[in-house]
Amino acid sequence: MKLLFTRISSLNGLSAKLIALAAIVAGAITLFGGFGSGAEQAIRAGRDTIRAHAPSGKIVIVEIDAKSLHQLNQWPWPRRYHADLVNKLHAAGARSIAFDVDFSGRSKLGDDAIFAKALEDAGGGVILPSFRQATSLQSQNFSENLPIPELRTHAFLASVNIHPDSEGMVRDYVSGVSTVGTIRPSLAGMVAEVSGRGSDNFTVDQSINQLALPRVSFVDVINGKVPVASLRGKRIIIGATAIELGDRYAVPRHGVVPGVVIQAMAAETLLQNATNSSLGGAPLFLASLLVLWLMMTGKNRITKIVALALGMSAILAAPLALEALGWGSLETVPALVVMMIAAEGIVAREIWRAFQSKTFVDQDTKLGNGRALSRFALSDNCIVISTRIARFVETQSVVGAAGATDLVRRTAERIAFTAVSGEVFRTGEDTLAWVCESGDADELDNRIAALSALFRSPIQIGNRSVELSLTYGAAGSNADDARACASRALVAADHAAENGLRWAWHSESLSEKIDWKLALLGELDNALANGQIWVAYQPKADVKTGEITSAEALVRWSHPKRGLVPPDHFIPVIEQSGRIHDLTLFVLERALTDLSQWQVARPEMSVAVNISTPLLDDPAFADEVSAVLRKTGVDPSRVMLEITESAALANPERAVAAMERLCALGVKLSIDDYGTGQSTLSYLKRLPACEIKIDKSFITDLVDTRNDQILVRSTIDLAHELGFKVVAEGIEDAACFALLASMGCDTAQGWHIGKPMPAAAFAEMLQSQIALAA
Ligand code: C2E
Ligand code: CA
Ligand code: CA
Repeated sequence: MKLLFTRISSLNGLSAKLIALAAIVAGAITLFGGFGSGAEQAIRAGRDTIRAHAPSGKIVIVEIDAKSLHQLNQWPWPRRYHADLVNKLHAAGARSIAFDVDFSGRSKLGDDAIFAKALEDAGGGVILPSFRQATSLQSQNFSENLPIPELRTHAFLASVNIHPDSEGMVRDYVSGVSTVGTIRPSLAGMVAEVSGRGSDNFTVDQSINQLALPRVSFVDVINGKVPVASLRGKRIIIGATAIELGDRYAVPRHGVVPGVVIQAMAAETLLQNATNSSLGGAPLFLASLLVLWLMMTGKNRITKIVALALGMSAILAAPLALEALGWGSLETVPALVVMMIAAEGIVAREIWRAFQSKTFVDQDTKLGNGRALSRFALSDNCIVISTRIARFVETQSVVGAAGATDLVRRTAERIAFTAVSGEVFRTGEDTLAWVCESGDADELDNRIAALSALFRSPIQIGNRSVELSLTYGAAGSNADDARACASRALVAADHAAENGLRWAWHSESLSEKIDWKLALLGELDNALANGQIWVAYQPKADVKTGEITSAEALVRWSHPKRGLVPPDHFIPVIEQSGRIHDLTLFVLERALTDLSQWQVARPEMSVAVNISTPLLDDPAFADEVSAVLRKTGVDPSRVMLEITESAALANPERAVAAMERLCALGVKLSIDDYGTGQSTLSYLKRLPACEIKIDKSFITDLVDTRNDQILVRSTIDLAHELGFKVVAEGIEDAACFALLASMGCDTAQGWHIGKPMPAAAFAEMLQSQIALAA
């Protein structure tokens, strides 16, 4: 099917696939590019802190510390001290003895021999260091730095090389070193009694609390101050810890430590079987892809968040568990990158969606709003249809706000099937709009007829069934956006409603009408001030005597460009705009002022003024009327206010309250346009009105229409029985007047008596009548 319209997609937000792709790509780059080592180390240090635990206690460091240097008071020490130490340790039953001390130079001949003897006496198992070093400062050639020959004949040799990484940090330990073809096992390997190949590097386990490694002072051992028990069966490593002897390295978590401590920590790592060789970042990266998949396919927000939280925890916890078990060390950063980008993407998307929802969704009904509609790019073969729910405010007052929301939603549901993509938009409180395929007027007529059929059955809201009355308007795309189209369609819908049609096309002349109405509103103040708006009077005569007893004030607008604008054209506009107050008070004041003039000669004269429906809603209106009465000094009982039957019916309680407020001022009330509504006279009896005006549609053709005659006669009879005076308006000829007189009508109004005329003309008419009567 041809695409009828396209959604402007840039506003659609981040798609889940895009977020996933970005996360995977970033994760893969981190993994294969080896990025994020700093973060990896920091996370590892965090894990080490969590796993922090005591050393085995099997290794004891004999420190060449400041105290020993001080007490033994010369440096380098004579080798007989070392001999002494070896003898003491051997006697104490140490399991092994390893020196991280440089014996490559000769000392005094006798001392070297004493030390060699001690090594021999110890059984030849003492470990002495070998040290690989560059032959010159920048050289790539290495040589082995070994203890002097007489010492090494009675000892094992082990490599003590320490390898800081590119950041100068010692993390890994080399199990063995090969120099010019000679392979030396590492000191830590020998102490831990683990055979290792030269290539077996491992990471020193920094979770072992190095401060808790047992340490004793060299001088205390040779002076016999260290209890034998604390040395028996122990693996002894001897090395310098005194700051002045240098040999210090930076390590994670523990700062700068002496080389001997690193040897001891490496040996501890081996003893605790905690070498945890690196398993790389791939396993967790793959796991993160699984979590990502769960997140993206999660049905709702909660499952997505749970997947993310569990995934994140697993990625952080798995390495911790594996390291504790000594199974290896997992790199987490690539996986975390995947998770973090996915999480940020999802959060960004949620924020975006919330924003979208606020901006483009009607919060009550969850239907798209007008802004959402304007995001549709209409193609030529689309039109927009708008509809207004008639009497929505009244319905709302009956079913409540929630009921009204429900009503709008359910109305949209019924309409949805005719809408392209099934989307119906709430463009206003009581208006809906949707896009549909265009067609000729007949097709559209059929479609709207089908739609209307759907609303023949009422909608059930709570325990009430609400009859819906909808009128429709249609507007073509005209290269406008859909929202502008919808407003034009709505103008057409309102036009249809005013003219009793089911639907109407929007046309330019309709728009002009609207423009014109708007222009009129803008001109109102000016027109009131400069006399363009004035009041005409139509005489009302006593049927029995033919005497003019009253006049109805009818407003006129003599527009400089448009000529005489009929009130039917401008009053509804002014009512809708909320300016009817000003106009009504203007007419009232003018009418009462003119009346007081007429009363000079005819004190019994009265005047009638039309009151618009919206004014009944305003409690302040009665006060304003009262003010005009006071200002003009007119007797209130000579003032008749005309209220239409439909106004009295729309909201009876409100109408009664408003009418009672007006009655309290002493003015009289008349029910205008009687017969056009659905009310019965007995109902109207409950209103504080004293007169009914039978609508001119029953009167104008009364003479020729038998049905109207029956109706009018019975109305007059019943009205009299109920105590109403009866006025007939629209009497155009003498025959009609005679007929009404025979029916007992009280007052007559119509062209036959007189057309609406300016005040001066009316005053003249009164004068000539007086003259006639005289
Ligand atoms: P309405 O109150 O029913 O006024 C009577 C209308 O019938 C007047 O139209 C009058 O000119 C017309 N009419 C009188 N006799 C005859 C007749 O024998 N034959 C025919 N065919 N028509 C006759 P108008 O002046 O155009 O007023 C139209 C409506 O405008 C009024 O209907 C009233 O609803 C409204 N209106 C007029 N002036 C005011 C006003 O000051 N305030 C308010 N709120 N509404 C007004
Ligand atoms: Ca009237
Ligand atoms: Ca009328």
